[in-house]
Amino acid sequence: MQFIKHLWFITLICAIASTKATSFSFLHAYILPRNFMDLPKEDRALLRDLILLNHPPEDWRQGNPQRPNPDPTYDVVIIGAGMAGLTAGAALFKEGIFHIKLFDQSPQGLEGPWKTYARMRTLRSVKDIMGPALGIPHLTFHAWFEALFGAEAWKQLGKIPNDLWMDYLKWYRHAMQLPIENHCTLVSLIPMQECFELEFQQLGQPLLVKARKVVLATGRAGFGGPVIPNFVKHLPKSVYAHTTENIDFEALKNRRIGIIGVGASSFDAAAVALETGVKSVDLIMRRNHLPNVNKFSSLPYKGFNYGYCQLSDEKRWQFMLAAFDAAIPPPMEALKRVEGNSNLRILSNTSISQISYEDSQISIETNRGLYSYDFLILGTGFHIDGYQQPELQHVIDHIALWKDRLPYEIIKTHPKMGDFPYLGPSFEFLPKKPGTAPYLKNLYCYNYGATLSHGLLSSDIPAISIGATRLAQGIAADFFVQESDWFLQCLKEYQEKDFEQEDYLFIIE
Ligand SMILES: Cc1cc2nc3c(=O)[nH]c(=O)nc-3n(C[C@H](O)[C@H](O)[C@H](O)COP(=O)(O)OP(=O)(O)OC[C@H]3O[C@@H](n4cnc5c(N)ncnc54)[C@H](O)[C@@H]3O)c2cc1C
Repeated sequence: MQFIKHLWFITLICAIASTKATSFSFLHAYILPRNFMDLPKEDRALLRDLILLNHPPEDWRQGNPQRPNPDPTYDVVIIGAGMAGLTAGAALFKEGIFHIKLFDQSPQGLEGPWKTYARMRTLRSVKDIMGPALGIPHLTFHAWFEALFGAEAWKQLGKIPNDLWMDYLKWYRHAMQLPIENHCTLVSLIPMQECFELEFQQLGQPLLVKARKVVLATGRAGFGGPVIPNFVKHLPKSVYAHTTENIDFEALKNRRIGIIGVGASSFDAAAVALETGVKSVDLIMRRNHLPNVNKFSSLPYKGFNYGYCQLSDEKRWQFMLAAFDAAIPPPMEALKRVEGNSNLRILSNTSISQISYEDSQISIETNRGLYSYDFLILGTGFHIDGYQQPELQHVIDHIALWKDRLPYEIIKTHPKMGDFPYLGPSFEFLPKKPGTAPYLKNLYCYNYGATLSHGLLSSDIPAISIGATRLAQGIAADFFVQESDWFLQCLKEYQEKDFEQEDYLFIIE
């Protein structure tokens, strides 16, 4: 009975699968190995959405003699299989670009911060965000969660626990059949005549890959890395760690911890430290009060997401200046987690002048006096400085930055913002000197570095689908332009008749 009820659907799937003359085996991957009804509920619901959307689309570049079959050069390689990389990959499939590959340095299931250095209990975002779903209803976290746990559990859910979000991303990767290679760190990227040569380190072995286009979906630290202040660099590495590092809190039991910075990650680290049983935690900040207005929270509305990149350079600068200058407050959940803990102090108005290390003790000289700790945690955030990315060493000199495009009078209002890359309309890098480094149009910055050029489309959850769609559509359009001679020739040679004259009884005079 159950089978008959769904027979129409299975027939529909088979019909669609058989009409798709494509090398892409999305539907086959579902249909051949298993009966449709054996699929988990969440996969079935998604598959129905995809069929209704006529997904996958045709491989509209198939047959181009410039693309041999098999083609040793990927059309697009995405570096990073975190949320942004996954969404970009799925968005490329949606636009009919299938010869792609994602590479991530992390083991499978540990991409991004969620199961590694994200120390909050739940996401900061609200639960009903579209996130990476690209407008496909059953690709949302909401649909996935309800299929697994039911509608009542959804009602009861407050914010999304980190682990669950990562499980959702793992399902997303499987459900959208994304081709991902883990344990691969991109170490160099060399522009060649018609492609890039990428060198990865894969478990100690070099791996060479060629790609026509490369998308850097390398996350918050992807255009500069974590900020390690100069004043700690002379300390033994065993006595300090950035919040993005793995920290053995068990080993810090009964120790005095100093945390520099009061952002979300600092408070999360303080909470874990206190819960594990450290002796004390000091959070050290230069400001005289905790920032409590997150200007960025006011931004992800549709008009901003769509229109920000169309603003003049000066206007975009003003928007981001207003948001960055206000600083980003710690979330309420993080504050509540440590509130009232007598082992926690927040040291305001505190500027560090020097740090020394002697007899296993870190001494910090400040304008408020001397403080001593056993271990320091750096909640100092991320640099924007492409020169810190080893993989960009062959191209970084040619990449246009905001400080190359705006007069110094404007840049000096926030010099660090001047180091953001100045990107084109589809997240592509642009050359410092117009007309040089033509390969840059095939290199896309889809990480936090895109913030000044595109707003919040590349490294936060709410508008990631808008960003990935912009990126994928830009890539599709560019492939069309690059291969337009062949498409024009195809048009001229196109002879498929819609009907045969003799089949119809018309008098054509
Ligand atoms: C602790 C924390 C909590 C956050 N909470 C929220 C939230 O609640 N809501 C929200 O909207 N945003 C949040 N964000 C911001 C944002 O959503 C996350 O940073 C998210 O992970 C961004 O996805 P991403 O794919 O851009 O980066 P990531 O998830 O960091 O993925 C980047 C991937 O690139 C890989 N990579 C980097 N360099 C290389 C290389 N050279 N070679 C190969 N692979 C490489 C990394 O291994 C990583 O897996 C949070 C960020 C952090 C750090």
